[in-house]
Amino acid sequence: MARHIGPVCKLCRREGLKLFLKGDRCFTLKCAIEKRNYPPGAHGQRRSKHSEYGLQLREKQKMKRLYGILETQFRSYFRMAERQKGITGENLVRLLEQRLDNVVHRLGLGASRAQARMLIVHGHIRVNGRRVTIPSYLLRAGDVVEVQPASREIEGIKAALEGAKKRRVPSWLELDAANFKGTVRSLPSKEEMAIPVQEQLVVALYSK
Ligand code: SF4
Repeated sequence: MARHIGPVCKLCRREGLKLFLKGDRCFTLKCAIEKRNYPPGAHGQRRSKHSEYGLQLREKQKMKRLYGILETQFRSYFRMAERQKGITGENLVRLLEQRLDNVVHRLGLGASRAQARMLIVHGHIRVNGRRVTIPSYLLRAGDVVEVQPASREIEGIKAALEGAKKRRVPSWLELDAANFKGTVRSLPSKEEMAIPVQEQLVVALYSK
């Protein structure tokens, strides 16, 4: 499973936006965006004007980085979204939201998508009663996601759930924190998928 292994706060600084890649730290004043909200590097504080292409590229990078996906896989999601009925940009975000690692994170079972991915790969997560070790597994309405009973004492999971109590679980998911379990009530609507990315610019970039 290919993944970004460099410092993740630099990704947020590059995009000028909190991508919440580090779990609870992202909600504190230690967040790099709170301290240095300008792009990393020697010329980071210079003002720069983006071309139309540059704007589209930045939106695409934001979306990829938010969900922790590399270029080849991201492009294949775009092709899937294009083939579906409806608006391609919305379809794309919905596909990314349906990923198991995203849902584990959104439910609060993993403090970040990276932690959620690790829990899945290490076999701590079940879907509809069966162990699933593929972070990109696409969930459907009605699917039940839970932590394996033997893994419920893991400190990282308990801490993530504790932190998640301060945040809101999206309305298309239902959390049963006492049983380390969540249900996908329905696939998210456009309003429920509000992410800080203009998906139409990503569509414009790939449609050239
Ligand atoms: Fe991004 Fe979180 Fe780092 Fe802040 S702490 S810069 S939100 S990864």
